[in-house]
Amino acid sequence: MSADCLFCKIVAGAVPADVVHETDTTLAFRDIGPKAPVHVLVIPKAHHADVAALALADPGLAGEVLAAAAAVAGTEGLLADGYRTIFNTGGYGGQEVFHVHAHVVGGAPLGPMLSPR
Ligand code: 5GP
Ligand code: ZN
Repeated sequence: MSADCLFCKIVAGAVPADVVHETDTTLAFRDIGPKAPVHVLVIPKAHHADVAALALADPGLAGEVLAAAAAVAGTEGLLADGYRTIFNTGGYGGQEVFHVHAHVVGGAPLGPMLSPR
């Protein structure tokens, strides 16, 4: 647990969340500002700042997060039509919450991966 981390507070139950999937080591809950019909955040319960830090510190846990994201895609009915799994990382990546999280988004065509530039 990292003090002042929003997602650690969700893990601790101190901030409410709409939880859709949970394992011993991971938690998945609906994004408060959904960008697609389905928008779920999948996190490790342990605090790691971003996906690179997680992969270096605990690759097994990184795999558990990916497995949880796949399970969520299944239970949310995304597997047939496809979906996107996104790890925003750092400032240029648009990361706002520095507790690693996979965005699992789908339920409609998602458009291009990035805006044309
Ligand atoms: P990031 O920009 O760091 O990749 O994504 C952070 C995500 O967390 C955003 O999509 C934002 O809507 C979501 N978020 C921010 N605060 C909360 C909250 O209190 N509860 C939930 N469920 N999602 C949140
Ligand atoms: Zn945290």
